[in-house]
Amino acid sequence: MGSPPKLTAEQRSAALAKAAQSRKRRAEIKTKIKNGEYSIDTVLELSHTDEAIAKMRVRELLEALSGVGKVRAQNLMERFNISATRRIAGLGRHQIKELRNEFMKSTHAVKPGKLLVLSGPGGVGKSTVAALLRKSGDFWVSVSATTRQPRTNELNGIDYYFISVAEFDRRIKEDEFLEWAEFAGNRYGTPSFEVEDALLRGENVLLEIEIDGARQVKAHLPAAVLVFLEPPSWEELVARLEGRGTDDPERRAHRLQLAQEELAAASFFDHVIVNDSVERVVSQLVALAS
Ligand code: 5GP
Repeated sequence: MGSPPKLTAEQRSAALAKAAQSRKRRAEIKTKIKNGEYSIDTVLELSHTDEAIAKMRVRELLEALSGVGKVRAQNLMERFNISATRRIAGLGRHQIKELRNEFMKSTHAVKPGKLLVLSGPGGVGKSTVAALLRKSGDFWVSVSATTRQPRTNELNGIDYYFISVAEFDRRIKEDEFLEWAEFAGNRYGTPSFEVEDALLRGENVLLEIEIDGARQVKAHLPAAVLVFLEPPSWEELVARLEGRGTDDPERRAHRLQLAQEELAAASFFDHVIVNDSVERVVSQLVALAS
């Protein structure tokens, strides 16, 4: 690489101001994409005349689209052979066509998102997978209500809505749950309004729930995709449950017994995925929602 051009103080400050302006413009565009004001087609059109958009990375554009997080963006870029650092202006004709085909169907009228239900025995790693998918932005992950006491590292509104038995009863009576179930002496339920709202916004939704709840979801919403997460082996599951410092021995024994019963339910599910690599599970779930 040659040495950088020598700039006067004035030229340098003009270049800095231009860079700041481009950043601001890119942030504006991303907000417009996120709230559905701009479709991918609009952005591709604007890239011919707007330098800030032309220089935007394709990855940034994809990740700003509703229902696309880091993992789906990565999958799409691999599928369409788009290199990691490619900018919009550098897209080939073929790649543009493929991106348009992928998204234009759903941008004119918002296509409802897909509902994925992730279930499986306690200790199999469902919550780790769900946390990764929430972080990556590929799914809107539902927060359940529960009557269980919070564990030390759990936060209200993030891990669960921790509510009283009386409040849980009220919500059942008012039909506010998409499904609910009792598990190991506590109740757990999925708030239906938030889930329906996210689906209507076009987001793919993930529920991380136990098996009885998964059955109820399928009965209400047959289009839901039920995924059963299986441990690589029974021994591995026992080790994970024993290793949990958060439950007392009696509770752990009860959970082991429950896990044995839960494993027998796999055949009811649309897909069974073995949790031998969290990244692989995440990628498979994203592919199922695409
Ligand atoms: P934990 O107490 O370990 O957080 O969760 C116990 C079990 O309840 C797990 O299998 C978890 O997936 C499940 N669970 C969490 N939220 C819900 C829910 O809203 N509905 C149902 N049916 N199960 C849930």
